[in-house]
Amino acid sequence: MEQNSKDLLNEIKELRYQLEEAHDTINAIRTGQVDALIVKDDTGHQLYTLKTADQTYRVFIEKMSEGAVTINRDGIILYCNTRFALMADTPLEKTIGMPLASFVPESSQNKLRELIYNSWEEDNRQEIILKDGGGKDMHCMFSCNTIELDNGVALSIIITDLSVLKETEKQLQQRNEQLEESRANTEKLNNTLEATVRERTGDLLISREHFKLLTNNILQMTWTNLPTGIVNSFNQRWYDYTGLSKDDTASFEWSQVVHPDDLKETLIRYETSLKTGEIFEIENRYRRYDGVYHWHLNRSNPLKNDNGDIIFWVGTATDIEDQKQEMDRKDEFIGIASHELKTPLTSLKGYLQLIASYKKEELPPVIKQYIGKAEVSINKLQTLINDLLDVSKIKAGRLEYSIAELNITNLVSQCIENAEHVYPAYIFEYEPGQPYMVKGNAERLEQVLMNLVNNAVKYSQNNKIVTISTQKRGNNVRVSVHDNGIGLSKDQQSKIFERFYRVEDKKNMTSGLGMGLYISNEIISNHKGTIGVESEPGQGSTFYFELPLV
Ligand code: ADP
Repeated sequence: MEQNSKDLLNEIKELRYQLEEAHDTINAIRTGQVDALIVKDDTGHQLYTLKTADQTYRVFIEKMSEGAVTINRDGIILYCNTRFALMADTPLEKTIGMPLASFVPESSQNKLRELIYNSWEEDNRQEIILKDGGGKDMHCMFSCNTIELDNGVALSIIITDLSVLKETEKQLQQRNEQLEESRANTEKLNNTLEATVRERTGDLLISREHFKLLTNNILQMTWTNLPTGIVNSFNQRWYDYTGLSKDDTASFEWSQVVHPDDLKETLIRYETSLKTGEIFEIENRYRRYDGVYHWHLNRSNPLKNDNGDIIFWVGTATDIEDQKQEMDRKDEFIGIASHELKTPLTSLKGYLQLIASYKKEELPPVIKQYIGKAEVSINKLQTLINDLLDVSKIKAGRLEYSIAELNITNLVSQCIENAEHVYPAYIFEYEPGQPYMVKGNAERLEQVLMNLVNNAVKYSQNNKIVTISTQKRGNNVRVSVHDNGIGLSKDQQSKIFERFYRVEDKKNMTSGLGMGLYISNEIISNHKGTIGVESEPGQGSTFYFELPLV
């Protein structure tokens, strides 16, 4: 008994050894490590060689990345490669002898059956799911063909894992969908863009036509010019007025239309505007088609882009010939009228003085009072008439006077004395200081200063303090008159030195004709000096003039 169990144990040991040996051999054959083997049998040792071609295929099939299976008519696996065992997640030795159907889930059973059935007849292929041990289904392609073996026909099946392909396909599909979506979006955007462009082009066309219609129908001549100064378009009115053709204006020069006497100033202002970007404005004469010149007011504005760069200029020239002639007639009338008024006024003044100095009989006090009032009115009238005469003299270029050296400090003191006499309700602050010598006409400079003082009084009814000062500024002496009155805006400041300009202010209406500052400006310019103002609305004003010191 003891011997028996010992024998059995030995037998098991021997068998185990043989099994291991068999395993190793099979493995060695599979992987091509051996190409011949010696097998021990009853008749002794036998040498079995493996044909070289066979070996190549065996190795090839083992190394293939596809699964390879051979089944018999009953669907039982006769052979499979390691890759299939891996795909099926089953040890190789357990795979052989198993029905292939056991590696396919229920959902693919029919497909597999059909495929195998058909493949015995002709080569076939089909997508079939392979169960893997992890419970994850693997999409595979089963390609079948029959092979003749020594012991009958078998079906060989090459199984290709499609999961990577499927995943790539899925990703491709997703990409395609995304692509399609972006294509649809792009198309939508494109359509919107096209519609916008169509709309804008339409708008542009309308606005261009609008602009053309407008420019060709207005009475002004218009042009556009580039930042370089080249004039690149004119309206119909321009061609009608000048009589020039499009060819004539192809390389346009201002000298073609502007009066020779006005050309230099026109070009200077034009160039300055191009350089500075400031509005171009000038009055000049334009030659009409028949050679007659008409005065025109030119204005050109720059059109800028969002960066502030000038794209082009739009200019207009308005015919002001009629207004000019009207102005000339008015000047002529003012000249004659003021001259005609001057003579009777002078005699009126003379007679009043005679009455006032009548000595034979004492005049009743009330008459003396009336004479005083009449004198004040006559003086006002005389100032007005003198101003009118001055304006017409300036226009005719005949405002002449003698020049001598004079002390401006004394002149200011005298004016203030006079002002204190005329405006007793006002306080005039002035500290004379050192003498300043200038060259000029005392009467005219007094006229300027009195005009500034009169205005300071007129336009500061609520604050009756007027401050006057004289100070040296470089080679000049500056005389300033400061009031605490209504003040002036920047826009008003730029216009008050023009002829007959008065600020339209219903709240602070005062009498005046808008001549004082115009005359003052002329007088100071003639003295090679400057006149100006510093002011803010409601903050009072400081009017000043500067003259070169001797
Ligand atoms: P007038 O005073 O006769 O109207 P001027 O030529 O002296 O004419 O002045 C022109 C305009 O300037 C005035 O109408 C007035 O609006 C404004 N102006 C002049 N001086 C002052 C000042 N000191 N304060 C405020 N506005 C003034």
